[in-house]
Amino acid sequence: MDMPVRSLSGFSADELIPLLSPLPPYKCREVFKWISRGVRGFEDMTSLGKQEREDLTRRFVLRSTGRGKELADPDGTVKLQIRLHDAVSTEAVLLTDKEGRSTACISTQAGCPVGCVFCKTGSLGFRRNLEAGEMVEQFLHIREAGTRWGREVTHLVIMGMGEPLLNLGELRRAVGIITDPRGLGLSKRRITVSTSGIAGGIRELADLGPPLRLAFSLTSAREELRNALVPSGRTNPLPRIKEALGYYQEKTGRRITLEAVLLGGINTGAEEAAAFRAFARGLDAVVNLIPWNPVEGLGFRGRALREPAPAETEAFARLLEQGGLKVTRRFRRGRGVSGACGQLGSLD
Ligand code: SAH
Ligand code: SF4
Repeated sequence: MDMPVRSLSGFSADELIPLLSPLPPYKCREVFKWISRGVRGFEDMTSLGKQEREDLTRRFVLRSTGRGKELADPDGTVKLQIRLHDAVSTEAVLLTDKEGRSTACISTQAGCPVGCVFCKTGSLGFRRNLEAGEMVEQFLHIREAGTRWGREVTHLVIMGMGEPLLNLGELRRAVGIITDPRGLGLSKRRITVSTSGIAGGIRELADLGPPLRLAFSLTSAREELRNALVPSGRTNPLPRIKEALGYYQEKTGRRITLEAVLLGGINTGAEEAAAFRAFARGLDAVVNLIPWNPVEGLGFRGRALREPAPAETEAFARLLEQGGLKVTRRFRRGRGVSGACGQLGSLD
């Protein structure tokens, strides 16, 4: 019988059982394990019989994505282009921090419908949602890149292209596969998802799990400015987002990160800092400041965007700290390969 060729990477261990029938369940679990080890063909699944491997090869593929260009920055960042089956591509990044910890950063969409004015991905428009398997495969591709560069991936951030909470169903499936101890087994505590602030999605994640670390890209706590910078804000007012964050915190007991891209001369003033502090009040939050990474051609209200001067960033950080907030600065990594925050999308 002719069957469609399907990639197995997006199926949970339990879903594989009916899918791979008549393969016995214990062997389905072996297949799940083999996929997590990164084998490239069924012929490498040496615990299966020859006939079984041939049968699976005829019916399925292990991956639907391919590795495209790979760019390495001298600072240790590696950016990968991931080619999807329908000729669309997305990007994933391997980041290494000062402590030598390696983090995979994956995308949830090709392009992004939110359209933040400071973000390269946002300027591309929206292509489509990624499927769970396409997210799992990004993680596998990054892990392989890590092996090539002598690094072991220990953390995952869902901060690549796209708005994760607008593709929450597939994201939850992917995270379920990546955290399954029978396979990749990454701890949920080591996974952070970043959102531009989709209040309904934050609540859904709180209710249905998994309890990931949550980062919210606040960027400006002055509603009018924020709505101009982050268009999804218009349908997700800040009070509603704050309520959802409070609910998330209540349900998960997790500290939240408030992120802010600092745009020189736009959102770094004293009034901005005061509004930011007011927003954070009542939340258990740390602040992560990200000096804007340049993207050519992006402007706001008729002026080109610019990076904040280092003193501007420091002054803003100090104003937040004086209000009792804990503030971290994001290391600027990956700029040499346009693999830093907000720069993804240049390889297409
Ligand atoms: N869509 C999600 C996650 C991907 S963007 C979100 O917006 O949160 C990841 C982070 O990069 C966000 O905090 C976003 O505000 C930030 N960012 C976007 N463009 C940037 C740029 N050019 N420079 C620095 N940070 C940027
Ligand atoms: Fe989308 Fe995030 Fe970029 Fe905004 S910052 S356009 S939400 S990827």
